[in-house]
Amino acid sequence: SLNFHPAGRHVLGIPGPSPVPDRLLRAMSYPTIDHRGPEFGVLGHRVLAGLQRIFQTRHPVVVYPASGTGAWEAALTNVLSPGDAVLMYETGHFASLWRKMAERLGLAPEVVALPGICPQTGLPNSWRRGVQPDLIERRLREDGGHQIKAVCVVHNETSTGVTSDIAAVRRAIDAAGHPALLLVDTISGLASADYRHDEWGVDVTVSGSQKGLMLPPGISFNAVSPKALEAARSARLPKAFWAWDEIIEINKTGYWPYTPNTNLLYALVEAVDMLETEGLSAVFARHQRLGAACRAAVLAWGLDVQCADPAVYSPVLTGVVVPQGVDADAVRQLIYERFNLSLGTGLSKLKGRMFRIGHLGECNDLSLLAALSGCEMGLKLAGVRLQGSGVAAAMEVLQHSATCQARYP
Ligand code: PLP
Repeated sequence: SLNFHPAGRHVLGIPGPSPVPDRLLRAMSYPTIDHRGPEFGVLGHRVLAGLQRIFQTRHPVVVYPASGTGAWEAALTNVLSPGDAVLMYETGHFASLWRKMAERLGLAPEVVALPGICPQTGLPNSWRRGVQPDLIERRLREDGGHQIKAVCVVHNETSTGVTSDIAAVRRAIDAAGHPALLLVDTISGLASADYRHDEWGVDVTVSGSQKGLMLPPGISFNAVSPKALEAARSARLPKAFWAWDEIIEINKTGYWPYTPNTNLLYALVEAVDMLETEGLSAVFARHQRLGAACRAAVLAWGLDVQCADPAVYSPVLTGVVVPQGVDADAVRQLIYERFNLSLGTGLSKLKGRMFRIGHLGECNDLSLLAALSGCEMGLKLAGVRLQGSGVAAAMEVLQHSATCQARYP
């Protein structure tokens, strides 16, 4: 336990939960109101309408007082039946956790992944690149009897810092002429990386509060297409708390069938307002720019970025591969103790091999530079030989590219 109080603010550099803006913390401190009273219905309608704009959908968005894992379970149990075959693409740790959940629920997941190991790093190729839609298309074409009921992919793989082209996955399913539903996890992508539920033809989108939406952990979402709602009518996996039908019906009045997370909903309305005041496209551009600066730092250090395909670098986080023989967790611990900065750990297959820098949510030029300077000092103190200054390289990128700072009236 910490027996001292370090001066200044902790720098939360993990890829979610992301730092919660003061404005949202203040909104959460409003008094909790009667969730059946007249004021609440106004709040409920604002929450639901705002979420539709963020998911870019005209269809229902279901809110759960649960972490993202709950919304994963809701997505599967609402549209599938025991023993259903599900095609799950493995991009990393979170994709494989979702697959394990599918197994526990009595589904029959089949993993599709890019084969092989990267010779330079010894890391699985599939954990360094995005979803390959052609592999999905090929497998669906073989499934003439339409045994596969759903295709599950992770839009922003938080364990690796790789995004995937969801529109291309939709095209692959359509090209195969296959009726499988498309289920997408954008728990860490939403409101940081461009995401379009309707336009991309997604059937269920899963997301959470603690990443791009800048809220604390605690609520999560399912955006649901008409085709998913239709599938839900005959799906037979047991569900009660997660069942969409009752929630969507009562949501029409601005209320929930159970006690909703009132104070997080106050913050959600504010978060949507912040995102829309900046403009969603400006928010996405800010994340792209910060991601570019962060990668410039990693390359200047002479280290590898975990994502091996520049076309799908994540705008949310960057995975930094440390040289063979260095323990990334020891470096993280040193940085935490010396500089009061938290960085993301390497998960499962990547344990000790890499760490993750988050540049999501309310991150700006100087908060990114703070995290990068902590990393640079810590890497040097840990004895990692760096080729050059990553901080200087990131400053070059930020200094010479247009900023997207909020303008004060
Ligand atoms: N999926 C992705 C891509 C995630 O990043 C996370 C959490 O970081 C999860 C699922 C699990 O969500 P939670 O930890 O909120 O249950």
